[in-house]
Amino acid sequence: MYDILVIKEGYTKPMKRGLLEAGGSITLLKGPKNIIVDTGSPWDKDLLLSGLQDHDLCPDKIDYVICTHGHSDHVGNLNLFPSSCLVVSYDICHRDRYTVHDFAQGIPFEIDDFVEIWPTPGHTGADVSVVVRGTQLGTVAVTGDLFEHLDDLEDPEIWQSTSERPELQQQSRIDILRVADYIVPGHGPMFKVPLEFRKQMRMVMMHDEYYEEASGEGITSTVSQSQCIIVETE
Ligand SMILES: [Zn+2]
Repeated sequence: MYDILVIKEGYTKPMKRGLLEAGGSITLLKGPKNIIVDTGSPWDKDLLLSGLQDHDLCPDKIDYVICTHGHSDHVGNLNLFPSSCLVVSYDICHRDRYTVHDFAQGIPFEIDDFVEIWPTPGHTGADVSVVVRGTQLGTVAVTGDLFEHLDDLEDPEIWQSTSERPELQQQSRIDILRVADYIVPGHGPMFKVPLEFRKQMRMVMMHDEYYEEASGEGITSTVSQSQCIIVETE
């Protein structure tokens, strides 16, 4: 059985003049294997090392380091783990040896009976999430920025504004919501999946409507308007 230990809680804070302060979650999965999901930013080195120490671990004892995607607040400390198996987006390597695995075809990578790495693209073209079954909390998904934080369930602008491929990300979010009891998102505390979002009962998505608008003199132009749509199913 695995323990889910959040070493650093991700956060995001809008600042003045278009600046954004953000830091990604760092999560330790402690069980039959020791697994780190996302390594934070380069200046999180000491925090990461002391977080491991708090759980009687050091980098040499980490079997897998999984980075959900290649943004700097998720891959900042990879070089602390030269002897671990590294999974970064869809690449799997142990030192300079690469394992060929077809994440692009939707095939999960199994670490053991409890832990799988799922392809969950959309935020970037090749994100992965880690699905851990049989924990004290049930099934926990550590998703990187597939979910920014709890509030993005009701406010899709939060995740869609940083999404490379929103339609693909929406499908990946549905895949995770179908199985997860709890989610560790990229930029907020771990949360319990609210009942109405489980089993794809409720989905909130921004949707662009395009329509023709007369702009005088018989000339028409195409205008788009974003609308928030809510889909609820049984
Ligand atoms: Zn990101």
